[in-house]
Amino acid sequence: MDGDGANEDEGLGIDVILQQDGDKKAPSCLHGPALLFEKVCRGEEKGRRFYACSACRDRKDCNFFQWEDEKVSEARLQAREMEKQSKRPPFTHKEYCSRLKRFASQPAERMFCQDCQVLLLPSERDAHASHQSVEVSAAQLSRPSTLLRPLENKKSNAQYLFTDRSANFLLATLAGLGYRRVLCVGTPRLHELIKLRNQEKKDEPMKSLLLDIDLRYAQFYGEDEFCHYNMFNHHFFGGEACSQVLQAFLGESGMGEKVVMVADPPFGGLVNPLAHSFSLISQAWRKLQSPDNDGGGDMPMVWVFPYFFEARILQCLPSLTMLDYQVDYDNHPLYKHGKTGRKQSPVRMFTNLSPRAVVLPAKEGYRLCAICERYVWSLNKHCAKCNVCPSKDGREWRHCEKCEKCVKPSWKHCQKCGHCALPGHPCGQENKEGCFVCGSLKHRRNACKQRLAQRVNKANARGGKKLVPPRPAFKPAGKRKSGASRRAKKLARAAPTS
Ligand code: SAH
Ligand code: ZN
Ligand code: ZN
Ligand code: ZN
Ligand code: ZN
Repeated sequence: MDGDGANEDEGLGIDVILQQDGDKKAPSCLHGPALLFEKVCRGEEKGRRFYACSACRDRKDCNFFQWEDEKVSEARLQAREMEKQSKRPPFTHKEYCSRLKRFASQPAERMFCQDCQVLLLPSERDAHASHQSVEVSAAQLSRPSTLLRPLENKKSNAQYLFTDRSANFLLATLAGLGYRRVLCVGTPRLHELIKLRNQEKKDEPMKSLLLDIDLRYAQFYGEDEFCHYNMFNHHFFGGEACSQVLQAFLGESGMGEKVVMVADPPFGGLVNPLAHSFSLISQAWRKLQSPDNDGGGDMPMVWVFPYFFEARILQCLPSLTMLDYQVDYDNHPLYKHGKTGRKQSPVRMFTNLSPRAVVLPAKEGYRLCAICERYVWSLNKHCAKCNVCPSKDGREWRHCEKCEKCVKPSWKHCQKCGHCALPGHPCGQENKEGCFVCGSLKHRRNACKQRLAQRVNKANARGGKKLVPPRPAFKPAGKRKSGASRRAKKLARAAPTS
């Protein structure tokens, strides 16, 4: 299982199609505008396209589905509308805010219902009497992530909370680099840490805005601190008012307060839509910069994601670099830092901050590679032949003279395949399935020139400049191995093996 870029969905022949102004045309589910997918069948040039929910990969959570060319009846539209209404949250964010005030002003016995995951007002206790509830301490109230049960959707939306080690490292690094505003996209624990740090009043205060799809957090934060947001389609559930909150937050950075975005999306793949959303945020930031800062450039960002998505992420956002730092999680026992007999975390930081400026802690086993000018993991030894520190997965890689590159320690050079591979790989059968588009056995669909030509023609016909480049990878077919997001899915259960 050594993947370096292919997407599981590609294996199934399913692609995400990003459209310019796609949202305007796309039908919506509870989670905002749906994403357009394309299902490609063997030998067919063009697959059939359909819309599905952007946020939920598990159809049990949202079963929205519509063929692109499907005519939807009035009755069905109405039924959809009814469903949306019926699933509306019980309170608006404003109401949650006034509830919090009342909740916090209680002198004692402040209760949280674990079954319903809500802070209970005194008048509500009776209604939850048969439920499991706990008393809320002041400390818990300022650390909601310790109170809320992490979402455990096996398919891809499980919530993995940073260990203190990782969260503190991130925060200290960003503060040290002079950032005073942090846009937390799917990073509630970082958000709460920033607020705690401010309460301690030891350091210069920082501002933080949390964008997350988990509405439970609205119970704990004001409207200028939390927006209910879907990062797969850049959708603000609270509409224009919420998108204004983001604008205001980014805008103030024009006053000299440096802003940085930290995102830790679910690992279930869909790199393209995420990159697209982050680009939109970056664009908004750029527009709000003071005129003398108008030289372009991207908004400073840190995207936390598994290392085996590196190729896909860099393809979408070439200004990012993957750092060696292993991000680990409290509620993911398999992914602990270091070589303590457990698996090392495969999760890394992708960032456009200068890798040299992000000092990785020596006491945790990182060191500066003076040649690469970046901090690397202790086992990541510089290869004089490749002139890089080549390891991606935390193990010590070795140079193969025949492949003329460094490879994973578990790989052996295979004469038959002509390159290194895991012993016991299906020898000589690479790409047995061939290309979906032209049938060639020499490459897979994403490297297909025929398909590429189709895409370029289409893009030219549209005449639009694309933010995120269309996806066909310009990668030699031989480099493709197996699906990165197939492995990402496994993250929920087991560590990747290789
Ligand atoms: N490590 C982070 C949590 C990452 S888990 C921390 O400790 O703060 C992924 C986070 O992304 C969760 O908070 C989850 O609620 C959020 N999330 C999942 N899907 C999302 C979506 N479509 N849009 C926005 N946020 C989402
Ligand atoms: Zn949905
Ligand atoms: Zn309850
Ligand atoms: Zn080498
Ligand atoms: Zn080799």
